[in-house]
Amino acid sequence: MKEKIIDDKIHEKMSLDNVFKIFNDNVFSMLNDEERQYCKELQEFCLELHPRIDKSKDVYELFPELGKHGYMQRINKWKDFTPYGMKKEILLGTHLSLLDPQLELARLASGILCGNPTFHYYKYGGKGETIQKVQDELMSGKKIGCIGITEPPRGSDAVNMTTICTKVDDGILYNGEKVFTTNGPKAHYFCTYGVYDTNHPRETMVQAMIKREFGVRTERLKINSVPRVHIAHTILKDVKVPQEYVLADGGEGYVRLFEGLVPERLGIMGSGIGIAWAGLIYGIIYTNLRKQFGQEVIKFEGVGFGLADLLSKCTAATSLALQAATIYDDKVLFSEKPNKEAEKWVAAVSSQGKYFVSKLTHEVCYEVQQHMGGVSVTDNTPVDELMDTSKIEEVIGGARNIQLFIIQNLLRKYKNLL
Ligand SMILES: Cc1cc2nc3c(=O)[nH]c(=O)nc-3n(C[C@H](O)[C@H](O)[C@H](O)COP(=O)(O)OP(=O)(O)OC[C@H]3O[C@@H](n4cnc5c(N)ncnc54)[C@H](O)[C@@H]3O)c2cc1C
Repeated sequence: MKEKIIDDKIHEKMSLDNVFKIFNDNVFSMLNDEERQYCKELQEFCLELHPRIDKSKDVYELFPELGKHGYMQRINKWKDFTPYGMKKEILLGTHLSLLDPQLELARLASGILCGNPTFHYYKYGGKGETIQKVQDELMSGKKIGCIGITEPPRGSDAVNMTTICTKVDDGILYNGEKVFTTNGPKAHYFCTYGVYDTNHPRETMVQAMIKREFGVRTERLKINSVPRVHIAHTILKDVKVPQEYVLADGGEGYVRLFEGLVPERLGIMGSGIGIAWAGLIYGIIYTNLRKQFGQEVIKFEGVGFGLADLLSKCTAATSLALQAATIYDDKVLFSEKPNKEAEKWVAAVSSQGKYFVSKLTHEVCYEVQQHMGGVSVTDNTPVDELMDTSKIEEVIGGARNIQLFIIQNLLRKYKNLL
């Protein structure tokens, strides 16, 4: 904190411990015993790590701390870390956002966006030790990963990518550029997509795990809202990827791209739920203690009603995220024969939920700042950092309009039912 102006007594109460008390009071009733126990362990971990986080430093030195507890991701089983599944991943993302939203952003990019494809590789019959080693390094937090989909000319229209793959004897050459690569400037591994033929991207897309030393060059972008996370312009010039690092070849990359988007968007809902609750709870604590005109400001309807409105929305969003994750776990992830209808439903809801929750993070943080007053735009409370990170949540994983575009495409299909 550069200069402290917040009242000592209020500041003392704005502790992570108190945040968890209010969060638990609102969310625990939606969880079963196993899930509550998992949350309690997560909260103990967060309370222990919190005082050791230096907000003037990048988030990356914290990755090994997450890795030690199997917290780089929890969708898939890695080593003996249990429980796991999409609901556990949502709860992990929520807690890490309550702890440190920038750490959560970088964790999601490394653990889920880059890590998940390594699990998919073996699920679809991939062989050998190379990708297992990459997975272990990413999951332990010892190495950093990122994903390269977006390109300077191809944002929302990601499928029509321009990065060219060319087959050579013992691997694939990559030529192209990626942009907005979260963690890119620090990354050891780049899960990167390219195509053999730009006229037929779906049929020729490749997904490969590219090591930095294969020749990847990165330049850091200046993004003010998340200064502790490094985001890159990534340049691939004649980068040769050995065959054992190719995760999915010849059009299979397209299938994996889309398979990855569903857990990615559900995961982003988890991060967003955490930002929304964090912003709201700090607002609730502060306005319960801050006095003006002789009474606590929460007693003014302009403040109290506004927070009540946000609480209703946070509860609704949390319920949606947990329900979508439950259905994904029961009918897709843990099912011997994944239910096609459920897969379609979850894919659609992942866009609806990502749209709704990430927009809500922004609304909550912005409104809470108005309800709290001046102190909330200083570094005396965590709310301004939450506000800044909320902006990124809306664009990462597909901008707002692209979620709406996907949702309205489904609406149009109803004509066939009539
Ligand atoms: C901080 C940050 C981190 C990111 N991290 C990653 C990452 O790690 N890896 C990665 O690959 N990408 C990443 N992204 C990229 C992100 O997914 C893209 O920014 C996003 O897909 C939108 O692309 P664009 O920014 O080029 O916008 P454009 O696609 O150029 O869109 C511009 C505007 O037009 C709208 N638009 C576009 N098409 C349509 C349409 N058909 N209908 C209606 N509206 C439309 C968009 O919603 C947007 O408002 C990140 C982005 C940011 C800002």
